[in-house]
Amino acid sequence: MTSFIPMNNVQFDKRLEDVQQCSDKVILTFADGKTADASILVGSDGIQSTVRAHILRHLYPDQVEPVYADSYCYRGVIPIAEAQEILGSHTDTAKFYFGDRRSCVAYRISEGREFNFLLCVADASKPWRAGHTVTEKVTHEQMMADFQDRGIDERFLRLLSKASPIRWGFFHHLHTPTYYRGRAVLVGDSAHASLPFQAAGAAQGVEDALVLSELMLKLARGSCDNGNSETQISAALGAYDAVRRPRAQGQLSRAAEVGQMIHFQHQEVGSDMTRILGKLQNESFFDQLWFHDLKKDLQLASQKMDECLQC
Ligand SMILES: Cc1cc2nc3c(=O)[nH]c(=O)nc-3n(C[C@H](O)[C@H](O)[C@H](O)COP(=O)(O)OP(=O)(O)OC[C@H]3O[C@@H](n4cnc5c(N)ncnc54)[C@H](O)[C@@H]3O)c2cc1C
Repeated sequence: MTSFIPMNNVQFDKRLEDVQQCSDKVILTFADGKTADASILVGSDGIQSTVRAHILRHLYPDQVEPVYADSYCYRGVIPIAEAQEILGSHTDTAKFYFGDRRSCVAYRISEGREFNFLLCVADASKPWRAGHTVTEKVTHEQMMADFQDRGIDERFLRLLSKASPIRWGFFHHLHTPTYYRGRAVLVGDSAHASLPFQAAGAAQGVEDALVLSELMLKLARGSCDNGNSETQISAALGAYDAVRRPRAQGQLSRAAEVGQMIHFQHQEVGSDMTRILGKLQNESFFDQLWFHDLKKDLQLASQKMDECLQC
C-alpha cells in the first residue's frame, strides 16, 4: 500500500493542534509550531480526534467526546501452545462466549502462531474513572476479582491470569450529526469509533476511504465544473456524508446491540440463547454488513454530488 504514496508528501512526528478554515483553504497548526495549508483536511486521527472537535464543537459540543458504553475488557496475546493447553480445540476458530455481564472474544492472530483474547465486563453501576483516557491500570488481584465468584468456567480464569491488568474502556461515537464541516471531513474512528462486537470498525474506515477517494478523484478531474471550488468541495463532502454516515452509524448501533446480547443485557432477548442466536442468525443482521454492494455506494455518492451541483 505504501508504494502508492509519494514519500515527499508524507511527514512523520507531527501533532495537529489547531485547525482554521478560510474560504479558499484550511490551515493546520502543529505542536512544533509549524503550519501547513490544504484545500481539504481529512481527519483520520482516531477516537480522540482533534479534527472531530473542530468539526462538531460549535454546533454539537455534546457530541465531540466518545461515550462510555458501561463496559471494559482485559486483553492478552499469548503463544498458541499456551492457549491450546487451556482451551484445547476451541482455539481453532474465532469464538464469542456469551455470559451474564461477562464475556470473552478470542481468535488466532499472527498466521495462527498467537492467540488474541478479550475478557469483557459489563457493569452499568460504575462510571468510568479514567475520564477520557481509554485505559486504566489496575492490580492483578483487581482484575481477577472481576471474574471470580461468578461460577465462571475456570478455563476463562486461567486465560485471564495471562492478560495485562489494564482495563480497556469501551467507548464509541454513538451519535454524530455530521462527518464534515466546510473543508474538513472525518474518516475512520474519528467519525464512527465503535464497540468491537462486530469486528468491523477498521473495515468501516476502509469503506470511508473508498467512497471519499472516488469523490476526490471526481473533484480533481473537474468532471462537473458548475460552481467555484468551495461549492464543489461542499458537494463532494455532502455526498460522502449522505452515503457513509447512515451505514457507519448503523454498524455502530448494531455493534452496541451485539454488546448487549453478549452480556445478556439485551432488552428483547435477555439471556435466552435460542432467541439471541435467532436474532444474530437472522439473515439481515450480518448480511447487510458483509455483503453490501459498495459499487452502488460509489455510484450513489457520485450521483448525489452531481445533483447538488446540478450537473
Ligand atoms: C479491542 C478492539 C478490537 C477491535 N477489533 C477489530 C476487528 O476485529 N476488526 C476491525 O475492523 N476493527 C476492529 N477494531 C477497531 C479498529 O481497531 C479501529 O476501528 C481502527 O484502528 C481505527 O483506525 P483509524 O485509523 O481510524 O484510527 P486509529 O487506529 O486510532 O489511528 C489514529 C492515528 O491518528 C494519530 N493521531 C491522533 N491524534 C492526532 C493528532 N492530533 N495529530 C496527529 N496524529 C494524531 C494517532 O496517533 C493514530 O496513529 C477493534 C478495536 C478495539 C479497541
